[in-house]
Amino acid sequence: MKNFTYTRAVSPKDAIQKSVADPDALFIGGGTNLVDRLKAFLDQPSQLIDISRLQMQSIEKLPNGALRVGALVSNTALADHPEVKRNYPMLSRSILAGASQQIRNVATVGGNILQRTRCSYYYDTAFACNKRQPGSGCPAATGINRMHAILGASDQCVAVNPSDMCVALAAIDAVVEVEGTRGKRQIPFVNFHRLPDNTPQQDSNLQPGELITAVILPPLPVAKSGVYLKLRDRTSYSFALVSVAAAIEVTGDKIKDVRLAMGGVAHKPWRAMDAEKYLVGKSADIDSFTQAANIALQGAKPLAHNGFKIEMTKRAIRRALMVSAQGGGIV
Ligand code: SF4
Repeated sequence: MKNFTYTRAVSPKDAIQKSVADPDALFIGGGTNLVDRLKAFLDQPSQLIDISRLQMQSIEKLPNGALRVGALVSNTALADHPEVKRNYPMLSRSILAGASQQIRNVATVGGNILQRTRCSYYYDTAFACNKRQPGSGCPAATGINRMHAILGASDQCVAVNPSDMCVALAAIDAVVEVEGTRGKRQIPFVNFHRLPDNTPQQDSNLQPGELITAVILPPLPVAKSGVYLKLRDRTSYSFALVSVAAAIEVTGDKIKDVRLAMGGVAHKPWRAMDAEKYLVGKSADIDSFTQAANIALQGAKPLAHNGFKIEMTKRAIRRALMVSAQGGGIV
C-alpha cells in the first residue's frame, strides 16, 4: 500500500471541495472493496477523504411514497428495513445474497454501487489490464474467462459488475442522487454504470468530484412480488455466475407489468427491456417466459469458457418469472 494522507469531511460540500482540490484523492465510506484495492496497489490515492460520518445514514419516506436511502446506509440496514422487505423484497434478498454478514454491516449503499469488478486479472498486477492501466491489454479475453461477460463486452474489457444489490436497483427503476460543484443531479440507475467500450477504466458516469448522496426507490406496485435468483459455485460468500431480479404483476391471466434485470453477465447490471415489452399483455406461462428469456439473451456472445452462462441465464429468467408470477418469495 502506498502512503496517503487522511482527512475527514464534515459535510458533503466539504468532501466535494476536498476532492476537487486533489484529483488523486478518493472517498472512503465502509472501505470493504477500496481497502482491498489499496492493499493490492490497484488504487494509489494521494489522499483518502473519509465520508463515513456524514449525515447520509437515514432511510426516509418521501411525499410521493418513494424511499430515499442515504448513501451511507449500511447494506444490512437496507436489507432489514421493513418497507424494503415489504415493497422491494428482491432488493432485500439481493443484498442478503452478497458478501457476509460482517461485510454487509460495514458496506454502504454508495460503496456497493461503486465496487469494482472481481476479474482476477484486474486484481493481479503481474498481468496487464486495460481497466487498471488503459492500453495495456486484456488477458481475460483470451485467458480464463468463465466468470466474464456474455453481453455488452468490448475487445478492451470483458469484465462483469459484481454487485447483487445493483441488479435489483436496475430492475426497480431506482435513481441515483449525486452532488458535485455544480449542485445536485439525478441519474436513472440503468444509466449510472457504463459498458466498457474503449474506456474500461471508467465504471460509471459519475463526474470527477461528484459524490453519491442517496438512492431513490420509486413507488412501484409490481416490485412487491419481486424475486432475486443468484446462481453461483457455492451457496454463500461467492459472486454470481448469473443472477436475475424479476417482478411480474398478473391481472386475470395476462401480464400487466414486469421488471427484469440480470447480473453476472455484463459490465453493468443488465436490464432486459425488450423482454419486458414482449411480456406485457401475454399469458403468464412457461411459453411466454421462455420466449422472454430468448429475447433477453439475443445479443449474447460467449467467450471460450463461459458459453454455459447463456442457457443458465435463460433458465434463471424462466424460474424467477414463474416464482414471481405465483406471488414471489424465495426462489
Ligand atoms: Fe482487465 Fe477488464 Fe480484461 Fe479483466 S476483463 S483483465 S478487468 S480489461
